[in-house]
Amino acid sequence: MSRTAFRTCPLCEATCGLELTVEDDGAVTRVRGDEQDVFSHGYVCPKALSLPQLHDDPDRLRTPLRRNDAGELEPCTWEQALAAIDAGLRGVQERGGRDAVALYIGNPSVHNLSAPLYGRVLAKALGSRNVYSASTVDQYPKQLASALLFGGGLTVAVPDLDRTDHLLLLGANPLVSNGSLMTAPDVRGRLRAIQRRGGRVVVVDPRRSRTAEVADEHLPIRPGGDALLLAAMAATLFAERLVRPGRLTPHLSGLDELRELLQPFTPELVAPAVGIDAATIRRLARELAAAERAVVYGRMGTTTQTFGTTASWLIDVLNVLTGNLDEPGGAMFPLPATGGANVRGTPGSGRGARVGRWASRVRGLEEVFGELPVACLAEEIETPGEGQVRALITLAGNPVVSTPNSARLDAALASLDFVVSLDLYVTETSRHADVILPAPSPLERSHYDIALYGFAVRNVANYSPPLLPLPAGLQDEWRTLLALTGIVTGQGPAIDVDALDDFVALELVRRDAADPSSPVAGRDPQQLLAALAPRRGPERLLDAMLRTGPYGDHFGAAPGGLSLAALEAAPHGIDLGPLEPRLPAALRTASGTVELAPQRVVADLPRLEQALAEAEAEAGGAERPMVLVGRRDLRSNNSWMHNLPLLAGGPGRCTALLHPDDAARLGLRDGAPVRVRSRVGEIELPAQLDDGIMPGVVSIPHGWGHGVDGVGWRRAAAAGGVNANLLADELLVDPLSGNAVLNGIPVALAPVAVEPVGSAG
Ligand code: SF4
Repeated sequence: MSRTAFRTCPLCEATCGLELTVEDDGAVTRVRGDEQDVFSHGYVCPKALSLPQLHDDPDRLRTPLRRNDAGELEPCTWEQALAAIDAGLRGVQERGGRDAVALYIGNPSVHNLSAPLYGRVLAKALGSRNVYSASTVDQYPKQLASALLFGGGLTVAVPDLDRTDHLLLLGANPLVSNGSLMTAPDVRGRLRAIQRRGGRVVVVDPRRSRTAEVADEHLPIRPGGDALLLAAMAATLFAERLVRPGRLTPHLSGLDELRELLQPFTPELVAPAVGIDAATIRRLARELAAAERAVVYGRMGTTTQTFGTTASWLIDVLNVLTGNLDEPGGAMFPLPATGGANVRGTPGSGRGARVGRWASRVRGLEEVFGELPVACLAEEIETPGEGQVRALITLAGNPVVSTPNSARLDAALASLDFVVSLDLYVTETSRHADVILPAPSPLERSHYDIALYGFAVRNVANYSPPLLPLPAGLQDEWRTLLALTGIVTGQGPAIDVDALDDFVALELVRRDAADPSSPVAGRDPQQLLAALAPRRGPERLLDAMLRTGPYGDHFGAAPGGLSLAALEAAPHGIDLGPLEPRLPAALRTASGTVELAPQRVVADLPRLEQALAEAEAEAGGAERPMVLVGRRDLRSNNSWMHNLPLLAGGPGRCTALLHPDDAARLGLRDGAPVRVRSRVGEIELPAQLDDGIMPGVVSIPHGWGHGVDGVGWRRAAAAGGVNANLLADELLVDPLSGNAVLNGIPVALAPVAVEPVGSAG
């Protein structure tokens, strides 16, 4: 006998609904798209089909590992593992204080119900200034720009794909990434629909990506030029009197200042710096202004560069100036079922962005949203003195592969006194661990996309219970995270996890009851807690968040409203409707307005002018160096899907993509090895010639290069490829957010001499 089950795919941001066939023995024999899913309507990509292989992967950890006296990782019991962690971390805390233990949170933590809820508890309990995550090699510029404009780092405007007539994408390849800071299953179908209804899709990218191939227009741009292009477009709108913010006008501040600030960025000056002529820049601005419903959207290419925050700010500036912010078909703010910071508190005002409350010890990079930039983690480990990092906890993270100057970080991790990792595999990072705690497979845990529905192009909610029982030897992640919480707070390895969970849940409802804006304001927290019984763990917290959220049943005060029980009865999810205008109520700036000229960005604009001047000087001078950009692959997600046969096969994808003219100039041949060198390292990999990439640019995907000693994912280790982050320079950051620069890194390319067959040695 087999059964059919439905659940949300946890592998990327698109949150597709899956239909799985499960046999009596627990084998998952079929995965396909759930036709009835309220959001994805049957769409899936190849990654979802690999879920059974991930579950059955013999290399996946199913028991804790600890390092023995011979220095090898060996299986152990949970009690032994937690006792070793307690001894290791306590010793470091006693010697070096709280900041001596760092925490790194990896990207898969977002695609998980337990990790965001209980990872936050652990981070707070740890009390260390050294908290890092994948967000500072990815999206913090966008979140910081959103915080400066709207008052909240999670008040991120997403493109209303299903109603727009004109979509301008910069540095984004959602046909391959499946969307990022834009939760939207089947992006290809949604882009086709724009074109079918007479709209236009324009892609600005140094490379003719798959998204660019289906677009109506592709404009190559010099890597890192996005902020200049966007500034020139905004300046054009002012110069041609095309600024029409519409309904938002009374809720804006800084408009006049913005006009003054952008004046220097004329299309004529910007054109040679970005590689797009002035007439085209003006046309892009005019098209945006003329379209009834238009939206500008930018992703990795716009954030992982030296002007990441400025480019992200300018994207929403353009959406405001053309009257497309917070309007159907423009850039809109989702209203997730679990609520969030822009739902709580006084509508329309708040404290605004809070950043820079502390700085990194060695380089002085500022804290953003409670984290330090991961680009400075290695130096915080290496540099002696008060607050030196001597231990690291990693949660589903592989920073050795996914963060800049991998070689330096790899060596730094090897020097630590203690490392503990919560992971599915022994990876390039967790191979440094003294203890590795295994996590359940995605099929053994419940799922709800708390974070990702905050970026969804339609308001939806979908909960998935665990598909398969936990086998002996594994425990739920929330239990593991609470056990670690007990350890870092000095309560020892045998803490009563259930009692700590009761405390966490009580604190959550207590906060709600104390918030005058909450639908349960003034109610008895103990009664609220009792109403959530017998649930516990993430289900209890999720139920509380849903019930007090904007669609919730408000613990009985709004009969028929949302609760976890309602989601359990709706296996294909619940559609909560299209995005609705949310301003000014969602603003949490101190002024209660959209702050178009935030001081942090304004103070940095001379640097953008300087870049313009340098580009002008370069244009008439020596040849520019080649610059490196990244690229995504449909069958890969950062560093962690290369051990799955369905995804790892086929021709090698880790290649250096470059233009044939550059290849001819540099003596490189298609398929032949090329050496790529940056300030911090060099790698060798096959060249791949493609006339769809801009001359002067080389593209290498990240997340490869698993063939190092001590890793446990054997297929990945044998898959070939090299680690592009061996080239990424940890000293290059967006100074406003501290985000790493992964696009636009100067590199030198040279052919690798091939040894003649039969040569000696
Ligand atoms: S697009 Fe993302 S969420 Fe959808 S099936 Fe593929 S990996 Fe899963």
